[in-house]
Amino acid sequence: MHEAGLAVRFVEAALEEAAARGASRVTAVGARIGELHGVVDRHLEEFFAVMARLTPAEGARLVIERVAARSACPGCGEFFPGQPYGRTCPACGRGRLETAAGLEMELVWIEIE
Ligand SMILES: [Zn+2]
Repeated sequence: MHEAGLAVRFVEAALEEAAARGASRVTAVGARIGELHGVVDRHLEEFFAVMARLTPAEGARLVIERVAARSACPGCGEFFPGQPYGRTCPACGRGRLETAAGLEMELVWIEIE
């Protein structure tokens, strides 16, 4: 399942970062996720809690920052809300819209002790 794989990645990244900083415990994790991944926050939180069990991140809070989908025109540089869907740029009528945001999937910060 998508959320399970994501949870593993976030737990591993948080533990790696915590180890690099010499922390004994991770208390919170901030993740940035684009809406195009269709992730269900509650499922991700549940899997995160399970994957973090028996690690220094056990009980850590997962804070999810959602990024809205945006499209961009490579021709004129204009941005538009939503997915491109192969649309032609409504501003210049030439460029084909490309995905500019909404595919993020990254660990942004961790809180450690
Ligand atoms: Zn354009």
